[in-house]
Amino acid sequence: MPQHSHAPTRICPDCSGFATAVITTGVRNRDGSRHTIPVTCRTCLGAGTAARPVPATVTAG
Ligand SMILES: [Zn+2]
Repeated sequence: MPQHSHAPTRICPDCSGFATAVITTGVRNRDGSRHTIPVTCRTCLGAGTAARPVPATVTAG
């Protein structure tokens, strides 16, 4: 029986996969709609996924 589960992807820890948000500036356009600007996550640059972190090395002795 085939498995339908996909391999887990690395979700960006800073934005939790919601890489782009649209915020209002508080200014209204001429037609009365709100002026908005898109903001992307700085860590993943709008991708929503992050590269695997490099494991830290521990030296003892
Ligand atoms: Zn992100």
